[in-house]
Amino acid sequence: MSASREAQAGVVQELTDELGADVVRTSDEQREAYRYDWARDPDAVLPLAVVLPRNVEQVQATMRWATRHGVFVIPRGAGSGLSGGASAQAGSIVLCLERMTAIEVDPATRTARAQAGALNASVKQAAAEHGLWYPPDPSSFQISTIGGNVATNAGGLCCVKYGVTVDYVLGLQVVLADGRLITLGGPRLKDVAGLPLIKLLVGSEGTLGIVTEVLCRLVPKLPEPATLVAIFETLTDAARAVVTTCATSRPSMVELIDNASINAVEDHRAMGLDRAAGAMLLIQSDAAGESRALELAAARAACEEASATEIFETDDPDEGAMFVEARRAVFPALERLGAYMLEDVGAPVPLLPELVGGVADIAAEHDLLIAVVAHAGDGNTHPVIVYDASNEDEKRRAATAFTQIMELALSLGGTITGEHGVGRLKQPLLSRQLGEDVMGLQHAIRKVWDPQGLLNPGAGY
Ligand SMILES: Cc1cc2nc3c(=O)[nH]c(=O)nc-3n(C[C@H](O)[C@H](O)[C@H](O)COP(=O)(O)OP(=O)(O)OC[C@H]3O[C@@H](n4cnc5c(N)ncnc54)[C@H](O)[C@@H]3O)c2cc1C
Repeated sequence: MSASREAQAGVVQELTDELGADVVRTSDEQREAYRYDWARDPDAVLPLAVVLPRNVEQVQATMRWATRHGVFVIPRGAGSGLSGGASAQAGSIVLCLERMTAIEVDPATRTARAQAGALNASVKQAAAEHGLWYPPDPSSFQISTIGGNVATNAGGLCCVKYGVTVDYVLGLQVVLADGRLITLGGPRLKDVAGLPLIKLLVGSEGTLGIVTEVLCRLVPKLPEPATLVAIFETLTDAARAVVTTCATSRPSMVELIDNASINAVEDHRAMGLDRAAGAMLLIQSDAAGESRALELAAARAACEEASATEIFETDDPDEGAMFVEARRAVFPALERLGAYMLEDVGAPVPLLPELVGGVADIAAEHDLLIAVVAHAGDGNTHPVIVYDASNEDEKRRAATAFTQIMELALSLGGTITGEHGVGRLKQPLLSRQLGEDVMGLQHAIRKVWDPQGLLNPGAGY
């Protein structure tokens, strides 16, 4: 929306009159609090207002108002996104679903009906109360919403065996750009009536509609996993172990942490990790009986073949959970080292050693600290470029490295983003991955759903 300040204030007042000042927040402090997501996109600006609906009718009213006045809408869950997908734009409101948190579990259909603002952890907890499990587990599961997970098709630690968010969405309730409410899918395990619009919506980064409710597929709770931890002198050795492990068995978790990440975690919160390790590989198996022993034996053999310097195994769930917690602590720990640019590049698993080796070359070329943590079993890595924001030269080198790492992934037949989404920060490279024809199709689809271009302008594709 481009209009004079007074005109904008009048338009916002109209929404406040309809929904109340408890829902429509306009103070500088409140707008500042919803300006950025975790990516801290430097181009994010103060939104006109932050809208915090309590129910779907208020979401519909907001979208009808936005359509009437041509106001841009930035959908938001918890703002834990790492690609600038929820950063506020000029002339926009932020529509944040954080107050819509109801969850209802139906054990008969093994589903959970969750409002978009429910945290992933709350859905897991509600499922667990019925002996059920909601598998998608981004590292941010305690701080991200189910609506945000759907909008980014979030992955996580267990997707190497259990898949990503889209594999667990049976239904969606969505408010369209003009305020209409649609329902897609239902508690049906098979349904091929019409185009699979649920799959189009999942991962659409808030560009096609506002997700207000998600029907999640649940599965029976699994046995506690056994854990193998292997230490390597180099990240490339550890990556070689991943390639062999994934070719010979089907673990439930394969996570990789490099030396810089280990030390950042230890500095942040001492967990007894080996600070001298070049890399630590964390593998879990939740298979039953003999299969578990076979999987762990395959992982051990792969680690030995790749020159692991130490291998440790445990059946104790608490001990295993401690290593997983250390892995989840990596981003918050690295965040303390300075400004950062966070990558999400992926490659086919057999090319993981080339990907991490190439990242190390780029770090050396630009004399930068680039820590690497990876959902290695998916070939999905998170090189984190840490830099001093007050040093212009270092900032420029970091930006160059950010682009080069995505180019490296593309040269390996990989992707610029495995799970965080394109957002605003990875857009310049998207057409290089998809090609102009596919980009054209995506723009045409967007126009059908959002003819006025109000939803999350500048984000995604
Ligand atoms: C410490 C940390 C660890 C992380 N680990 C992982 C990981 O392992 N795997 C992973 O995939 N991600 C990870 N992330 C990234 C992030 O948590 C996910 O992308 C998550 O799905 C975002 O959820 P959110 O509720 O915070 O969404 P937001 O950040 O608020 O929004 C993300 C995107 O979704 C859109 N959106 C949000 N809600 C809606 C809605 N209701 N309707 C339509 N569009 C909407 C926004 O416009 C934006 O484009 C991590 C982040 C952090 C901070």
